[in-house]
Amino acid sequence: MSPNNPVGRPQNCRHIRFSPDTTYFKPAGVRRHLLEEVSLTIDEVEAVRLADLNGLYQEEAARKMNISRPTFGRIIAQAHKKIADALVNGKALSISGGTVLNVMRRLFACNDCDTQWEVAREAVRPEHCPSCGNGRIHRLRQRRQGRN
Ligand SMILES: [Zn+2]
Repeated sequence: MSPNNPVGRPQNCRHIRFSPDTTYFKPAGVRRHLLEEVSLTIDEVEAVRLADLNGLYQEEAARKMNISRPTFGRIIAQAHKKIADALVNGKALSISGGTVLNVMRRLFACNDCDTQWEVAREAVRPEHCPSCGNGRIHRLRQRRQGRN
């Protein structure tokens, strides 16, 4: 066991630079309740996006995600296996969860109503909560999503 990664330590946020628009895929003509489902985490999809779609070397993709090359290798192998399972065995595919930080966006929260919302990094800082209009808002450092 590596002393830098003892069991039980919370993992660092994996940096991502996109938010999936579509988070559920299913085979045509099969009712959803009859389908088995495979769950991909957002960091797994980001690994596929960087290496498979954008053609980055794993070293570079790992750096972008703020993780080690071996960790990147494990994440993308897991993603490939899940995608293959869905395609070959006709399963639905959902995308959610993962311990991720979207570095293209900033996350804000309302002090009163607990609404949280994202703002593009280059946009001006919001002054009011989009839900209740209250001006007492604060920036959240990172977005952690629990593993599902
Ligand atoms: Zn509010």
